[in-house]
Order: sequence, then structure tokens, then C-alpha cells
Amino acid sequence: MQENMLVMPGDKIATEEEFLPGSNTYAEDGIIYAATTGRVKIADGKATVQTVARDIEKINRGMYIVGEVTDNMRSVMFVDIDTIYTKSKEFIAIKDGKIIIERQRPKPAFRERRGEAPRPERPQAPEKDCGVGDIILAKVQYNDPDAYTLTLDDSDSGVIHSVCDRCGSELEYNSKENVLICKECKYNQPRKISPHYNNAKSVEKLLLMT
Ligand SMILES: [Zn+2]
Repeated sequence: MQENMLVMPGDKIATEEEFLPGSNTYAEDGIIYAATTGRVKIADGKATVQTVARDIEKINRGMYIVGEVTDNMRSVMFVDIDTIYTKSKEFIAIKDGKIIIERQRPKPAFRERRGEAPRPERPQAPEKDCGVGDIILAKVQYNDPDAYTLTLDDSDSGVIHSVCDRCGSELEYNSKENVLICKECKYNQPRKISPHYNNAKSVEKLLLMT
């Protein structure tokens, strides 16, 4: 449990061994739960939930999100999704996002039977649109029980901030060659680049449309 963590009714906050249940919480079988939506506060040995002025909604299908790529597995990348703040609302992610990496399908067997020359093997590594540490703009394609499935397929989506794999310096967008190039070592990395790269204002505008 973290202080200031956003909770919804029924979310587990702490145990009664750790804290006493404070306002806007209730205890059941030794577990303290949030009774309302708000932020967790700890004071004088009590865990309480402080209500927030804004309405809170869950991020849902069809929305644009911003998040950081945290893990790169063989066929899936995980994304830590940021809360979206509007004037009157807060859109929160109740779970991680994931990007499924498309794999090259094995070529169909009938090609060879027809006597066509087999094409050279493609490299094994699947194409990836982003890497760990990248900040991405993506669209929520599905709201699955375990995670939000995100897509980078539409024209606005892609990497909006990234640093160099080699030296950690910021990558800059080079419009001539349509690549991201390191300011320091000039290394360039293949990415699916969003047209909103390093443009917080236009990202915000897009997020507020949803
Ligand atoms: Zn570099």
C-alpha cells in the first residue's frame, strides 16, 4: 500500500495489524477496504481515504492513453498507463496495458508444392514499434480482464518520447529521414514514431478529446 494511492470502493488498503481503519474505510476479517473513491492517507496510525473533488472514471476502450513501456517479453510488451486529468475528471488505469507483438506467420506449405522457390527466411526477431523506457501514445483496443490491450496502429499513435539505448541521451526526431536520432552519439533506433513526438501540448489536446 502506498500513501496517496488512488482507490475505489472495495479496494484493499491495508491490514488491521498495520493500521486502524479511519474515515471512508471499513474493516472485514482484518483487512481494511476503501468505502469510497479517493486517495489513501496515513496519519496517527490510521488509514483513511480522502475523497477527491474530481469525478473518477476508468480508462476504457477507444480512449487514447499515454504510458511508459516497462517490460519487453517475447510476444508482448507491458505498459504502465498514466492517469489522465481533465478539468472535471480523472481517468485512471485499473490495470497495466499490453501490446501484442505481431509475429511473422510461417509460410504456407502449398507454395513449395507448386514448385515456387521458397523465400529466404525472415529474421526471427519480431518487429517492435517501441522499446522499454519509451513513452508512448496508444489507443485502447480491448478492455480485457487482465490488462488493456493497446494498439499503435492508427496515425496518431506511437512513441512520443524516447532515450538512446546506448548512451541514455534524448532522441530527437529527424524529419528528413523519419527516424529518431540520438543527440549525442547519433545512434538511430527504429520506432513507430507518433506525429506528436516531444509535443506535450498536442498529446494533451488529443487525450482531452476522449
Ligand atoms: Zn546515444
